[in-house]
Amino acid sequence: GDVDFKEKLKFSQHLKEKAEAVSDFAKSKSLSEQRQYLPIYTVRDDLLGVVRENQVVVVVGETGSGKTTQLTQYLHEDGYTRTGLVGCTQPRRVAAMSVARRVSDEMETVLGEEVGYAIRFEDVTCHKTKIKYMTDGVLLRETLKDADLDKYRVIIMDEAHERSVDTDVLFGILKKVAARRRDFKLIVTSATLNADKFSKFFGGAPVFHIPGRTFPVNILYSKTPCEDYVEAAVKQAITIHITSGPGDILIFMTGQEEIETACYALAERMEQLISSSTKAAGKLSILPVYSQLPADLQAKIFQKAGEGTRKCIVATNIAETSLTVDGILYVIDTGYGKMKVYNPRMGMDALQVFPCSRAAADQRAGRAGRTGPGTCYRLFTESAYQDEMLPNPVPEIQRTNLANVVLLLKSLEVENLLHFDFMDPPPQENILNSMYQLWLLGALNNAGGLANLGWKMVEFPLDPTLAKMLLMGKELGCVDEVLTIVSMLSVPSVFFRPKDREEESDTAREKFFVPESDHLTLLNVYLLWESNEYSVDWCNAHFLHVKGLQKAREVRSQLVDILNTLKIPQISRHREWDLVRKAICSAYFQNSARLKGVGEYVNCRNGVPCHLHPSSALYGLGYTPDYIVYHELVLTTKDYMQCVSAVDPQWLVELGPMFFSVKEGDTSFLDRRRWHNEEKTAMEEEMEKLRQEQDEAACR
Ligand code: ADP
Ligand code: MG
Repeated sequence: GDVDFKEKLKFSQHLKEKAEAVSDFAKSKSLSEQRQYLPIYTVRDDLLGVVRENQVVVVVGETGSGKTTQLTQYLHEDGYTRTGLVGCTQPRRVAAMSVARRVSDEMETVLGEEVGYAIRFEDVTCHKTKIKYMTDGVLLRETLKDADLDKYRVIIMDEAHERSVDTDVLFGILKKVAARRRDFKLIVTSATLNADKFSKFFGGAPVFHIPGRTFPVNILYSKTPCEDYVEAAVKQAITIHITSGPGDILIFMTGQEEIETACYALAERMEQLISSSTKAAGKLSILPVYSQLPADLQAKIFQKAGEGTRKCIVATNIAETSLTVDGILYVIDTGYGKMKVYNPRMGMDALQVFPCSRAAADQRAGRAGRTGPGTCYRLFTESAYQDEMLPNPVPEIQRTNLANVVLLLKSLEVENLLHFDFMDPPPQENILNSMYQLWLLGALNNAGGLANLGWKMVEFPLDPTLAKMLLMGKELGCVDEVLTIVSMLSVPSVFFRPKDREEESDTAREKFFVPESDHLTLLNVYLLWESNEYSVDWCNAHFLHVKGLQKAREVRSQLVDILNTLKIPQISRHREWDLVRKAICSAYFQNSARLKGVGEYVNCRNGVPCHLHPSSALYGLGYTPDYIVYHELVLTTKDYMQCVSAVDPQWLVELGPMFFSVKEGDTSFLDRRRWHNEEKTAMEEEMEKLRQEQDEAACR
């Protein structure tokens, strides 16, 4: 009741005063003094002692206690870097970069020297590097070249509770490394309480707890389920800004598009407020954060806002545990997040919006209590929290396509994937599906082993489909063009479409259209940029993201390096673009669709209707070829095919014979998948064998 609330308020006020003292401290003290104020600092020596005496240690501590930024430095100070690297893995690229920058500042070094980072297509380390932050995907790929990871003295698997596919595979691999190398140390950190599970997996490794230092968070639920959570979150943020005391706001949304919408709406409301209000509202600094946001913009969330300015950070679940921003006193939680999920109907992964788990909601709320007593506004009802949300998230490995992982493990000569030491084994259906897909691409042979093509595909840090496209480009003599397309597909969309200049930017985009193909449109954009000497002004004039194109250029040059080491020459056929489309077709014949009715397509494999995306060149020009392939499906109101190319049906037969067959005297396809009988039997036998082994394993 009321009394309770007043009590809380009084208590809050008391804590707030303390908190303000803390944040003044952060403002006025040097980095090294700030380091000493972190919770982990009080247990530094004990922690180093435990690490000295054990090969594997699990470290648990609240977010913000200093695990990510301090552990590496303690190990460095304790001499571990004299005989090798201290590596620290992160499930997210953004975290790897931002944390490396922070630590190199704390150590007063230049980023990329003593402290560096490596993410896919970007290695900012050198021979001097002692502390290396990287994504777990990068470390996983390093095991291909060096199975024992000899250059590492210690590996910290950070944010292990996130349970990305790569983390889960690394668990199994690093367990083996630890068994083989006595000098190797492994530290697994977690922000949450599943530490016992990690400890058990590593044969009862000690669990070290960092004492917490957090403030209470008052949780307020929505009374009714909320219709439009973007709108509701914006409203809530503005209300807080007008009516509540100082303290920054953190809003959790699901993805880039929503975040941009919310930021735009917030800016608009603030403008109205300033122009109409008699009371002057304080300034609000609106800061988006999501994984595809350029690094310099991301860094802004850590910068101090100006005097009298409140920060409002609008983030994906990246701000749940990976990034810690001090000064947040208000959290607005929509209760949703995006998750990659394998969709059997589409035969591929799709990012879909799901309610988050209770554990995630609690973690989000906790972000409000780092520097003082905070408030969390949940835009969902208490009964939704109690009855509908899962207690914990499902590990990614149990819900996504594993083609990448299967390819990698096969190349590590893990003969039987079902016997690999997974903490939580993926469903066998997932493994078998992924194997089937790889087999269709030609990466696996009939016996389920790695085919020649598969060995080559592993060399590229690309999805199997894109690796296949590249290698097929080589066969067809157009690897140069395919390289560019693959690079452009590996970066966020380069087309810039600002909110108030949609028409103008669409017109600019249409000028690049190649009628029969979005892939060729991307190639066209890149070639024109190249012939304009990679000009920034040219990009701006044509509504293109220059950062995106520059990234594509970097990716391209790294892929060229790999081609060179494989001694694959870059032959260009100079715009024999039909061959390029053929190479594209070879990668995507599983993603093919056939025209049925006016402007309507159905998937060749399963007959499911799908639509050209409005951003497609084909859609824009009203061109509807009989057969197309697509890069990916996006699910919104309809199934949209994104990035589409027209193909000759004959190619589908030629390149995917196990998939399609042609009726005698008829050029139309049998929609059902029809494999060459022999191959089909061999593969089915293999799958049956795997199934039996799995069953036996389950019985044991
Ligand atoms: P943990 O890994 O336990 O969650 P961290 O080591 O990431 O904790 O964070 C410790 C402290 O360092 C936090 O107070 C955080 O605000 C600060 N910090 C971390 N990264 C940065 C950064 N890039 N810029 C500024 N401060 C940072
Ligand atoms: Mg951390």
